[in-house]
Amino acid sequence: MASIELAGVEKWFGNAQVIKGVDLAIEEGEFVIFVGPSGCGKSTLLRMIAGLEGTSRGQILIGGRDATAEPPSKRGLAMVFQSYALYPHMTVAENMGFSLKAAGVKPEERARQVAEAARVLRLEEYLERRPRDLSGGQRQRVAIGRSIVRDPTAFLFDEPLSNLDAALRVEMRYEIAKLHQSLASTMIYVTHDQVEAMTLADRIVVLEAGRIAQVGTPKELYEHPANLFVAQFIGSPK
Ligand code: ADP
Ligand code: MG
Repeated sequence: MASIELAGVEKWFGNAQVIKGVDLAIEEGEFVIFVGPSGCGKSTLLRMIAGLEGTSRGQILIGGRDATAEPPSKRGLAMVFQSYALYPHMTVAENMGFSLKAAGVKPEERARQVAEAARVLRLEEYLERRPRDLSGGQRQRVAIGRSIVRDPTAFLFDEPLSNLDAALRVEMRYEIAKLHQSLASTMIYVTHDQVEAMTLADRIVVLEAGRIAQVGTPKELYEHPANLFVAQFIGSPK
């Protein structure tokens, strides 16, 4: 678990500035959601926090440590993407333990961590199955399980549910809320789905063209939108 702080963060791609000076302090254990229309910079900002994109200006602090120049592997964060490519020939346990194996973790320790993740995600009965014998929701949980085993300091989710059908989205929203409760882990979650944002977030960050339009609890944003953009965005379900 760690706090994450952004100070004057900017991102340029060539001549185009896509992140325009973002200041944000995320507390340890907080569930923060980035929302905003397509192209406003949500993924770029998340990828910068993960270290998958460099930072053109400003600083990124993780647990108070200046991580701006650190490679992704040093940051200790787990990134969960919308596509959850599992290894089809491996069992659930092997999928979940793969990164530990690659990192040289011993089999007994690996088994212990996989068992713990499986318990949290209620996958204990499925550990010997292959991905093709799982439901969509179970597969998504395995994908999340792969990052939990590494005991990340924070989770970063980029629209993890956007490829799922409506019923599964509701189920997974509940799973993610439970995961946050049981791990008490810092989570940053990108979505363009207002319902997801309103139901999951401790605080919502509304992004508009690379800037923060407003930060607040779902209730604050709903009741006191800072401007018309926020009001329209939070008020209009898609
Ligand atoms: P969002 O996730 O909110 O939809 P993105 O962060 O993906 O938005 O993109 C923000 C802006 O940055 C968009 O205009 C996009 O075209 C641009 N962009 C993203 N990645 C790159 C890149 N690697 N090179 C150039 N432009 C990029
Ligand atoms: Mg995106």
